[in-house]
Amino acid sequence: MRYDVLIIGAGPVGNYLANLLARDYSVAVVERKNSFGGKACTGIIGAENYERLGLPKKAVLNELYGATFYSRIQSFSIGRKSPQAYLVDRKTLERELAKRAMRRGADYLMSTTFKGFKNGKAILQHLGETLEVKADFYVGADGVNSTVAKAMGAKTKAEFLSGYEVEVLGEFERKSVEVWVNKEITPDFFAWVAPIDGETARVGTFGSIEALNRFLRLRRLEPTRILEFKAGTVGFGWRKPWVRGNVALVGDSALQIKPTTAGGIVYGMLCAEGLRKALLEGRPENYWNYCSWVRRQISFGLRFRKLFLGLDQEAIERIFEVLGSEEAREVIETQADFDDHLRTAKAILKRPKLLAKLIKVSPSLIRALL
Ligand SMILES: Cc1cc2nc3c(=O)[nH]c(=O)nc-3n(C[C@H](O)[C@H](O)[C@H](O)COP(=O)(O)OP(=O)(O)OC[C@H]3O[C@@H](n4cnc5c(N)ncnc54)[C@H](O)[C@@H]3O)c2cc1C
Repeated sequence: MRYDVLIIGAGPVGNYLANLLARDYSVAVVERKNSFGGKACTGIIGAENYERLGLPKKAVLNELYGATFYSRIQSFSIGRKSPQAYLVDRKTLERELAKRAMRRGADYLMSTTFKGFKNGKAILQHLGETLEVKADFYVGADGVNSTVAKAMGAKTKAEFLSGYEVEVLGEFERKSVEVWVNKEITPDFFAWVAPIDGETARVGTFGSIEALNRFLRLRRLEPTRILEFKAGTVGFGWRKPWVRGNVALVGDSALQIKPTTAGGIVYGMLCAEGLRKALLEGRPENYWNYCSWVRRQISFGLRFRKLFLGLDQEAIERIFEVLGSEEAREVIETQADFDDHLRTAKAILKRPKLLAKLIKVSPSLIRALL
């Protein structure tokens, strides 16, 4: 078997890339699972990028217009007239993208695991049989524990966090996400409540299962009303290089994920677009440059994450006082961008009153963000 491009991993990013490439190249995608989907993921994707990337409407379960932020002792809400994010069904998203790629000519080899490279070929295991596939270019879209990254000798400097999520019955405000920032309950990350409808939500956090259990108790969600439990890993940091010779990494395999919210689907797809551009030019080494926007967002997110870990709950309460003020909410409602957190932070810090108040809470916070 021989292809122009062999993509390893049929997650959302691998399938999206297969779509992008299948018109210009012969493409095959290998996936170790026997079906699509199944990964722990809340499935929240910024609405603007969802439309721009042309992702399938069929996968959208709910439209989210706003969010309510809770600290230990206070809360504030922001809302907009149009949907800011969609909550999607990952299985449908992945299947629909794969179907599109297949229609464009991509081959899919399911239940097939990439094992490594030998003599310039990919060694694959399919139901006990070993296959060798030759391609001009190989792409690792095989997630956070990427085998391709190991095979190409990529180096990782990152914080890895376990995420725990349940789908649970309760009472929810259908159009709005809840974000809970309470270090006494979930010290490593915020906890989220993402409604699928008025009576079902995906609820999760990163760090430990104990943190999720504490949060479920705080939010008065019954452990006996859980429909589904999932766990997964995210990596915040850098895994480099993103391209070496005729092998590239994209999506979680390259840690193209927001350290602020652990959203990785959009950044991975934006980088997939950068990779396509570099391949069409015959200059794969340009891939890194074409992802400069995502890289800036990751750098900002990593600085933000470091600051978050250094803050105590008292400082978080004071930040909430500032962000919950009328002026800050107005900025967030009119200028916040679901995927561009750097722009959102800059819009807030451009307001002299808000800047002055935040400097009082933590001068180092402002220095690091700017
Ligand atoms: C609890 C939790 C909640 C999250 N919530 C969100 C969210 O709301 N929004 C968001 O944008 N992101 C979210 N994320 C992150 C998101 O899940 C990832 O960023 C996204 O899945 C990355 O897509 P990917 O295609 O790069 O990798 P993956 O989705 O991990 O797909 C990789 C694919 O490669 C396959 N594979 C792996 N190894 C091999 C191999 N050796 N051979 C063949 N195939 C292989 C896997 O089976 C898998 O299908 C969340 C993550 C967690 C853990």
